[in-house]
Amino acid sequence: MSVSDELFAEALKVMPGGVSSPVRAYRSVGGTPRFVKRALGSHIVDVDDKRYVDLVCSWGPMIAGHAHPEVVAAVQQAVADSTSFGAPSEVELRLAQAVVARMGGAIDKVRFTCSGTEAVMTAARLARGITKRPLLVKFVGCYHGHSDSFLVAAGSGVASLGLPDSPGVPKEVAGDTVALPYGRIDLVEELFAERGDQVAAIVTEGVPANMGVIVPPEGFNRRLHDIAHAHGALLIQDEVLTGFRLSPTGAWGLQGAKEGWTPDLFTFGKVIGGGMPLAAVGGSAQLMDYLAPEGPVYQAGTLSGNPAACAAGLATLALMDDAAYSRLDATADRVSAMADEALESAGVPHRINKVSNLFSVFLTDAPVTDFASASKQDTKAFSRFFHAALDAGLWLAPSGFEAWFCSTALDDDDLEVIDAGLHKAAQAAAQG
Ligand code: PMP
Repeated sequence: MSVSDELFAEALKVMPGGVSSPVRAYRSVGGTPRFVKRALGSHIVDVDDKRYVDLVCSWGPMIAGHAHPEVVAAVQQAVADSTSFGAPSEVELRLAQAVVARMGGAIDKVRFTCSGTEAVMTAARLARGITKRPLLVKFVGCYHGHSDSFLVAAGSGVASLGLPDSPGVPKEVAGDTVALPYGRIDLVEELFAERGDQVAAIVTEGVPANMGVIVPPEGFNRRLHDIAHAHGALLIQDEVLTGFRLSPTGAWGLQGAKEGWTPDLFTFGKVIGGGMPLAAVGGSAQLMDYLAPEGPVYQAGTLSGNPAACAAGLATLALMDDAAYSRLDATADRVSAMADEALESAGVPHRINKVSNLFSVFLTDAPVTDFASASKQDTKAFSRFFHAALDAGLWLAPSGFEAWFCSTALDDDDLEVIDAGLHKAAQAAAQG
């Protein structure tokens, strides 16, 4: 029995599924989750002292690698002055300024929260408060956190576990969320023609990455923006996962910034907290000032804008200059090409969807454009792929419905381990 096996057996007694977040439990791939002891740079070390090259990056935040000396120093300095004040702090202000400045005029103000879930929940409340309308429009397979309104045809763990929706969400609440298949602008138009005057906001991931990565059809997000505006609704672009990752200005930098349109509200998380619990809503001063205490829409948090979290985020953003993004993009190109080549040579049908440095590997022979096509992947083959990769020292997301995350810490030695591991994984996937 490994130490992970022992700890997991204990954890199952005091935590549902032995975990604090469902996908970590390995339910869709089987086996015992590895308990992590420490992580440094591109490596994770488990409690049995096995090392892995990390291609999950804590589901996105660890873009500059684990325990980066500058992030650690910033957090150490912050916590030496106390872990929480429950009052404004300079580091919080500096992070707000950094996020606003980096978004290049797309937003004027931010409100910090402790999780992406809260950020999207707040954005939705703002949109409903501002428009005085009830409906939210989302897309099947997109994940916007686990608040009631968004556990409707959600992606990520909900999809991995095959739970279409969640008990405990009142049907009255779920009934105010309309979920449409991703990419179907015709269905968005139809919905707005019928109920456009009731829609508060369209909520979408800048690039969907929670049913695996889906490449948005050309002009799709721009059309969402235009349709929402034509009907007096808002567009909320959820960049919790893509923000400050896909480019210095996230998914918007690849789309709206080039095409000349801006979502009304953004949500950010993951990278802006550098691995600490931190997320944000951002938008124009006019919209953001509807939030209390400036306006009537209430939102709050004991630990919101936590100084240690803000210090981690600020230090992480400071590391992500243009050279860092170029390095990240080049690394992701190499890793995705390696996965492609390994699966090709093992004769495993697969599709790779990729947008800048974010990609997914789907074990299917048909194009993946939405949740229905993502669900056609061979999940049994993925389990074999995942476990062989894990044995070979690769830390992958334990589900085929997730993105692969690279960090700037990955070096040539890591890439060799990745290449060898992916070949073993592909051979295991082939042995059905
Ligand atoms: N939105 C998106 C696009 C996400 O990817 C996630 C988390 N994966 C969330 C919201 C929720 O964030 P959190 O897990 O921090 O609540």
